[in-house]
Amino acid sequence: MRFALYWDHRSPQGLQRPVQRLIEGILGIEGDVVECDRILLTGFDLLRRQYNAQALLTCLEAVQRRRGDCDPILLVVPDDLYAPREEYVFGLARPGQGTAVVSTARLHNDFYGRAPSEDDFVERIAKEGAHEIGHLLGLEHCSERECVMYAPHSLDELDRKRKMLCPSCTAGIRGPA
Ligand code: ZN
Ligand code: ZN
Repeated sequence: MRFALYWDHRSPQGLQRPVQRLIEGILGIEGDVVECDRILLTGFDLLRRQYNAQALLTCLEAVQRRRGDCDPILLVVPDDLYAPREEYVFGLARPGQGTAVVSTARLHNDFYGRAPSEDDFVERIAKEGAHEIGHLLGLEHCSERECVMYAPHSLDELDRKRKMLCPSCTAGIRGPA
């Protein structure tokens, strides 16, 4: 099994390979980068200035069907995302469909008025991406704060996670249903 890393053409360029390699290291499976310049994204809320993450996944599933992809897919977008009853989300996964999305919008230091760091940025995209792909591989949230499957409620909680799965999550990985 592999994972497909769909990189929206508006997402920060040059980070695809470093993110791919870090996710491979965290999950222990290999991935492929797919450059995406023609994904039609719907679900933008003009008042919130955010995309509905569920609507983005539905768009992604149309592309998945057209391409006949059966590996887990992670789409990386630059747009801020929300989900029902959530002010924002870093990402969202639909394990039944094998699709997930991550937003880079709140993973920049700039968003928080901190000094920019590309290393921080790449690590956060990879940890958040590996977390969502982890859901596609059958993992649920973990109570171990340093495990990638811990559900972070802030940037600091995301940063506290290490670039690894705890032993019990590692043992729980399985293929998509
Ligand atoms: Zn999660
Ligand atoms: Zn864990």
